[in-house]
Amino acid sequence: MNRAQSELWFHRAEAVILGGVNSPSRSYKSVGGGTPIVMSRGAGSKFYDVDGNEYIDYLAGYGPSILGHAHPEITKAIQEAAEDGVLYGTPTTSEVLFAEKLRQAIPDLERIRFVNSGTEAVMTTIRVARAYTGRTRIIKFAGCYHGHSDAMLVAAGSGPSSMGVPDSAGVTKATAEEVITVPFNDLDAFEQALIAHGHDVAAVLVEPIVGNFGIVAPKDDTYLKSVIDLAHHHGALTIFDEVITAFRFHYGSAAQLYDVHPDLYALGKIIGGGLPIGAYGGRRDIMENVAPLGPAYQAGTMAGNPLSMRTGIACLSVLQQPGIYEAMAKRAERLVKVTHEAADKYHVPITINRVGGAFTVYFGHHAVRNYDDAQATDSKQFARYFHLLADNGILIAPSKYEAWFVSAVHTDEDIEQTCDAIDRVFQGLA
Ligand code: PMP
Repeated sequence: MNRAQSELWFHRAEAVILGGVNSPSRSYKSVGGGTPIVMSRGAGSKFYDVDGNEYIDYLAGYGPSILGHAHPEITKAIQEAAEDGVLYGTPTTSEVLFAEKLRQAIPDLERIRFVNSGTEAVMTTIRVARAYTGRTRIIKFAGCYHGHSDAMLVAAGSGPSSMGVPDSAGVTKATAEEVITVPFNDLDAFEQALIAHGHDVAAVLVEPIVGNFGIVAPKDDTYLKSVIDLAHHHGALTIFDEVITAFRFHYGSAAQLYDVHPDLYALGKIIGGGLPIGAYGGRRDIMENVAPLGPAYQAGTMAGNPLSMRTGIACLSVLQQPGIYEAMAKRAERLVKVTHEAADKYHVPITINRVGGAFTVYFGHHAVRNYDDAQATDSKQFARYFHLLADNGILIAPSKYEAWFVSAVHTDEDIEQTCDAIDRVFQGLA
């Protein structure tokens, strides 16, 4: 595949944009290097690079593009919003309509605030939880990504319930020490952390179905309920980070799939239909701690802008159509089956985690239920897999910690074309 133009554009990018990318995960650093493919256009389930090569898109913009590229309903919403002006700095009807629509889908969202990114949404829920409880510490699960706010860039300490250490330069030791990291799917470790620090834990931050060390579901149907019950027992709130999961697996939250009710939610990605967005919300008595009603401050010039609101409404309206989620899950199931067949045929050890239309292919035999398991999978083999897929016109995220996202616009033909490519890729890996 000729990518001469991508090379040229990426070198131009490196001369003006730090590292050539506006988000580090777009670099090919974790897949052994190479020049990131520079895209010029997307249409439906496909996109096209600057050399004119076509790719079937399973990256989905890291999640948001569940309706593919330039979906007619999204384009229409953007056009109509543009004609009415895109920013008022006043209350608008579209933000009310969108908040109502979200609360209808997720009734736990008794009060909502719109922000501009998942990072902002999570960052604010932490502030609100601290304001409400008067406590400081946060518990998070190792390997889960919750945006790039200081407190969320904290890695696990040396023991299972020890205080964290900064995972990024520029994050202070004091901030890191406010965050306790425990392994996902391990109730004992979680309870130990609460016993040790529970009197000062403001909240527990949970990705109910993990999307950030690949797709990892809770170990059983009671795990999330136990996490919430234990947190409440120690006076801590629960925040579900549903930036990836909300509206990914069904029309609503992941919490609903497990019949649980966290105190607060952070949302983003899909709810903006591809435009910048974040939202947080939950219990009214907790949310009323936020300005102008309460003492916790949060604001935003672009928050609730009519462009993102109207695109979000359009996206959710499409997702309400019957059969959409079933079709995505069925297509993902077929891709997983064919991947297993190819891996067996060419003797490549893999393990796959799938929930609905999202799945991760890990290289190695062992099950992946937490971050340590994911780290132990074969990075070099993943890197080869990524590059071979791209060379065969299939684009996924360049990291073994991400996922394939099947969208609502992938066709049976796309899937069969992908299946053929998968066979060639595993032949190449053998
Ligand atoms: N939370 C989760 C679970 C995420 O996956 C991400 C982004 N990948 C974020 C928060 C941060 O969202 P954003 O990139 O919109 O700031």
